[in-house]
Amino acid sequence: MGGRIYDLLIIGGGINGAGVAADAAGRGLSVCLVEQGDLAGGTSQASSKLVHGGLRYLEHFEFRLVREALLEREVMLDRAPHIVWPLRFVLPEADGVRSRMRIRAGLFLYDHLAQRRRIPASRAVDLTRESAGGVLRSDFRRGFSYWDCWVDDARLVVLNAKLAAASGADIRTRTRVVSLARGDGAWSATLQSGERSATCRARVIVNAAGPWADRVAALVRDNTASGAVPLRLVKGSHIVVPRIAGAEDGFLLQNTDGRVVFVLPFETAFTLIGTTDVPVSGSPADATCSAEEEAYLLAAVNRFLARPLTRGDIVWRFAGVRPLQADEEQSNPSALSRDYSLALTGDAAGTAMLTIVGGKVTTYRRLAEAVMERLAPLVPGLPPAWTASRPLPGGDIPGGDFDLYMEGLSRLYAWMPDAMLLALARRHGTAVRDVIGDARRIEDMGVLFPGGLSAREVAYLTANEWAMTADDVLWRRTKAGLHAKASGVEAKVMAGVSGLMPPQRP
Ligand SMILES: Cc1cc2nc3c(=O)[nH]c(=O)nc-3n(C[C@H](O)[C@H](O)[C@H](O)COP(=O)(O)OP(=O)(O)OC[C@H]3O[C@@H](n4cnc5c(N)ncnc54)[C@H](O)[C@@H]3O)c2cc1C
Repeated sequence: MGGRIYDLLIIGGGINGAGVAADAAGRGLSVCLVEQGDLAGGTSQASSKLVHGGLRYLEHFEFRLVREALLEREVMLDRAPHIVWPLRFVLPEADGVRSRMRIRAGLFLYDHLAQRRRIPASRAVDLTRESAGGVLRSDFRRGFSYWDCWVDDARLVVLNAKLAAASGADIRTRTRVVSLARGDGAWSATLQSGERSATCRARVIVNAAGPWADRVAALVRDNTASGAVPLRLVKGSHIVVPRIAGAEDGFLLQNTDGRVVFVLPFETAFTLIGTTDVPVSGSPADATCSAEEEAYLLAAVNRFLARPLTRGDIVWRFAGVRPLQADEEQSNPSALSRDYSLALTGDAAGTAMLTIVGGKVTTYRRLAEAVMERLAPLVPGLPPAWTASRPLPGGDIPGGDFDLYMEGLSRLYAWMPDAMLLALARRHGTAVRDVIGDARRIEDMGVLFPGGLSAREVAYLTANEWAMTADDVLWRRTKAGLHAKASGVEAKVMAGVSGLMPPQRP
């Protein structure tokens, strides 16, 4: 990095750091993003994977957040129709929780707070006639349906990093910031990458370390820059079971404690169930799904399911830590705001640090725009916002019509099994052609793994998407790890993919 001084050093390669990197680099700023592990290795791989307004947040009067998030659903559908798609939800009425009137009022607001182009409106459903696939017990007779969107959260992060890199950003994974010091007119950050350490200089630091944001702020040597970061950490866990028969919609199930639990179609063969709200204080990296959380989730959904689930059905579980804004007056972790705040501190010499607290996957693009608005006074002549109408890499699907695009691909690559082609197209969109390259028959894809993964795709991911370990490939760039685990061949697949990974940088 030598004597170069970047405009921005972004600490954290989750969705917020990657989103800011893409926006800033596209406006011509010189950007370096550092991530201590893999891209999306923190909270951004462990969300419920919804681009949603957050129906529940209306109960906490979070109208600004809900409106912004509702609008972003349409923007994200346009920008990345391969990894974002509409998902219908069924919300059964249940005794002793919210009244029908209250739900109807909430859905009316949800339908009208923001203009919709592609997302249908909500409506009442008679569950005795529209059986919702036979998923629910027959005594749940009435309910509603409404729409939000699904997103592959970890791939969204990678696509933003790719967009940033295409505009010249340096993306450095497995690189941890270990100390920060102010110099004359620039920050000096010490970076640790394996055994090697290096210095990176930048005028502005964006602390996008999510649940680590307070720890990063504490790295400032004289500790004048940051102040205390008002962060509250709340763990959320999910369990994954083989696809519940008929559960092709999402379900929003009301629990007796007033919380809601999602039941969501996941990959082609699984159902994702979550989530929980557990205050935590240790390292975010240590979060795991506890036996109590598993039991809570199973009990919450078994009240509704025609065929109850047991612990033995669980094929995978994961946990993430929400970096929420602290609120001393709020003891209920479910009621803490899911909105974001930005804190800018600076000194007379022109160095500044902007710390991000909170934020959803859904609102990352607007958060990045808000970051740029805050930094604008420090960057004379900053070009205007640009990301809303620019597709993410692979998202330039004609007319945004993924199904039509798939039909064309099926003709072009008739030799590839349908499920594999669909998995590739979902992951890569129009970049699927780069992944397949000059392959003309299935043998040309090299060793094949579950989940549509092949040696050829592994090579693409290592060359183009910063994948450095088998875990990066199996659990974040793809979900082949889940398919392998559910088929009982995880160890074999892990060994196979590890054998294909180029040696790691020291
Ligand atoms: C259970 C759960 C469900 C959720 N569901 C949804 C949902 O359905 N929809 C939605 O919109 N949002 C959802 N969210 C919220 C969303 O996932 C998070 O708000 C978002 O992922 C936070 O992103 P981030 O970039 O701020 O943090 P992170 O993704 O955690 O990124 C921060 C990164 O900083 C890195 N880092 C930390 N310290 C250093 C250092 N010293 N040097 C270098 N790198 C460092 C970390 O390794 C990490 O990768 C959910 C969250 C949880 C926990």
